[in-house]
Amino acid sequence: MRIAQIAPPWISVPPQGYGGIEWVVSLLADGLVDRGHDVTLFASGDSKTKAKLEGPFKTEQRSQIGDTFPDTLHAISAYLRQDEFDVIHDHSGIIGPALGALARTPVLHTLHGPFTEDAKRFYRTLSGNIWFNSISDFQAACCPDLSYVGTIYNSIDIDAHPFQEKKEDYLLYLGRFSALKGAGIAVKVAKELGMHLKMAGKIDNEEESSYFNEHVRPHLGHGVEFLGEVTNQEKAMLLGGAKALLFPIQWAEPFGLVMPEAMACGTPVVAIRNGSVPEIIEDGVTGFIVDDETQMATATIKAIENISPHVCRLNAAERFGVERMVVDYEAAFHRIADGSPLQSTVPELAQI
Ligand code: UDP
Repeated sequence: MRIAQIAPPWISVPPQGYGGIEWVVSLLADGLVDRGHDVTLFASGDSKTKAKLEGPFKTEQRSQIGDTFPDTLHAISAYLRQDEFDVIHDHSGIIGPALGALARTPVLHTLHGPFTEDAKRFYRTLSGNIWFNSISDFQAACCPDLSYVGTIYNSIDIDAHPFQEKKEDYLLYLGRFSALKGAGIAVKVAKELGMHLKMAGKIDNEEESSYFNEHVRPHLGHGVEFLGEVTNQEKAMLLGGAKALLFPIQWAEPFGLVMPEAMACGTPVVAIRNGSVPEIIEDGVTGFIVDDETQMATATIKAIENISPHVCRLNAAERFGVERMVVDYEAAFHRIADGSPLQSTVPELAQI
């Protein structure tokens, strides 16, 4: 098939450091090429891919994240070429799917973000004119009345996450320093346990820097170590050495790539029950899921003592490997290119 993949223009594909969507797009584009498809990837020109690389920007547009002009220019450059493709797979923000709803070529839009009330209204307006896929069943249940092809979980490059059985003496927090991700709770947990905490992730907007200054900075140097944003290799080493990954999220995370990444390295995850967490972590098998932050310290000790690194690795490889994701998307592309009627395929689920 002739497939267009539209990545957001903000971060190169694959990312050198922070970047979730960009990893998914990278693995998918390469995987589709390996399966014989003619793939064109619209991404920043500093991306590396087996697909044909296109797009108006030579370099990633990270400093302009969220600005309308770069996003629109990037998306329209793909949609103006719609007749060259059998399907367009859009991972971009708002402009991409809006253009997709007017396109002749069948469009699949992967929902990578949360459903705010505005987002629900927007996607419902497009529904029936493009297809959607959710990245967790939880996410689909938050807005079940869209023209879905179903849920397709994100995947990770298992080989890029080396397994490490023998752990070092620290806990890990890895992610954005947004209030949504709860880094301050990880600090409290590590202090309660008297354990060393390594913290890595990005701080590149006002909300993240003020959260960091209030909830993390005052604790630095007292068993709490801040490493800044880390590269792919650094993150894999950090994940492998950690006794546990703390994932104290404060929002309905639609997927959360760091969970399978930790599991692949043989590291259990201790997470607050929210969003997709119960679909990714098997409670008592690959980590522990707790109802609130007060239960996290006890669960962390239980995870360190009881969770098998080998089981974590196997579970990640079986459930979150690239092959499964590529085959699922390939099936979705065939379905939408065959001209199936657009209608919701997700049953009405209990309100979450
Ligand atoms: N990440 C990274 N370096 C950092 C912080 C994060 O490589 O310093 C990666 C992390 O390993 C994951 C991605 O960025 O692959 C973030 O994706 P996730 O789904 O976990 O979070 P979100 O998209 O909500 O920020």
